[in-house]
Amino acid sequence: MRERSAKAYEAAQKVMPGGVNSPVRAYRAVGGTPVFADHGEGPYVYDIDGNRYIDYLLSWGPLMWGHAHPEIVSEVTRVTAKGTSFGMPTELETQMAEMVVSLVPSIEVVRMVNSGTEATMSALRLARAYTNRPYIVKFEGCYHGHADSLLVKAGSGVATFALPDSPGVPGGTANATLTVPYNNLEALNGLFQKYGSDIAAVIVEPVAGNMGCVLPNEGYLEGIRTLTEAYGSLLIFDEVMTGFRVSLGGAGARFNVKPDLTTLGKVIGAGLPVGAYGGRRDIMEQVAPAGPVYQAGTLSGNPLAMAAGLKSLQMLKDADQQGVYQKMQDYGQALVDTFVSLGREKGIPVYGHAMGAMFGLFFHSGPVTDFDSAMESDKERFGQYFQLMLTEGVSIAPSQLESGFVSAVHTTRELEYTQAAMKAAFQQL
Ligand SMILES: *Cc1c(COP(=O)(O)O)cnc(C)c1O
Repeated sequence: MRERSAKAYEAAQKVMPGGVNSPVRAYRAVGGTPVFADHGEGPYVYDIDGNRYIDYLLSWGPLMWGHAHPEIVSEVTRVTAKGTSFGMPTELETQMAEMVVSLVPSIEVVRMVNSGTEATMSALRLARAYTNRPYIVKFEGCYHGHADSLLVKAGSGVATFALPDSPGVPGGTANATLTVPYNNLEALNGLFQKYGSDIAAVIVEPVAGNMGCVLPNEGYLEGIRTLTEAYGSLLIFDEVMTGFRVSLGGAGARFNVKPDLTTLGKVIGAGLPVGAYGGRRDIMEQVAPAGPVYQAGTLSGNPLAMAAGLKSLQMLKDADQQGVYQKMQDYGQALVDTFVSLGREKGIPVYGHAMGAMFGLFFHSGPVTDFDSAMESDKERFGQYFQLMLTEGVSIAPSQLESGFVSAVHTTRELEYTQAAMKAAFQQL
């Protein structure tokens, strides 16, 4: 019963492209019309028809404390009353930078921006300026926001000069982006042998979250680090999704690999629009006004975003000592185990894994290690599963090629409810 949502979608389509402000929200991958949100509370989101869902979308990752956490709401409210933006520096920005530097081992200096896209775009500009080289390497199936040079994937298999994924991206821009399959060091090595001295940077999601959740093979991130170092290219970890999510210090800390630059977003704003990039001091000090690489933002370091993000990070830092990341991973793993055993019982190919507060479920016999294998997953069955789970009161991302998210406020109660919902859904698959 989602009549009001259906009506709201009709109205939205008349005045917004596809009725949405970001494409995946339109449910094209699963069919049907989108659920319109009214409000959220903890691990629950409520739609405008009054239905309640346990939320594993969590605004696509930012909400480590679920919806409308009282401490975050009260902090944002307190700061809002003092004014929403100044265009002068505030102490909140320094506190945020100090927090990031203290939590992420590879970051010495950080610049706040307004989105993950802005963060990756700026990090690439900086990497090209620092190395004075033209090429960027990215991996098939990794998403780094919608900047021209990153909106590119490869054809298939071996490295090729990529075609842009979207009309409007100039061929010249796309040509400076080289792509290889994820989890394939040989392919990357081949690319370096051919173009190594022209490669400014390799950008990677250290745990991929935009082709479903895909884990790096043992030694893979270390291998990328070794290659980039050997050729004098920078390594950029795009931790917009994994930052403060796969562990308190992100994937860099969890895998003990030190990138030169790291991009952040999502969790760092706790649901307000924000991003950041940071890393080695000598590189970051090339950014204006310390150095010549221009990058600016009218609303960068916005006090509301800083207040929300900082509160969320402080709470995570405290909760980390009580083992909250292990708790969230156990929760995700329990969902994976249930999904896999239900699938096996019915003879449906299933696969999945959990890492920190991220998890991935696939209608695929496994393993899923890269974009090609992720793409083999059964899309139609996922679409059915998605709709059945909605009916059961569980909200997951409306595409199999997205990650699932757990928060620190999801409890055993929600876990058991979700497992029962999965059981009901599989009975109808
Ligand atoms: C979400 C995401 C981005 C883009 O962030 P926006 O805030 O949507 O611009 C970039 N990189 C990764 C890994 C992401 O998950």
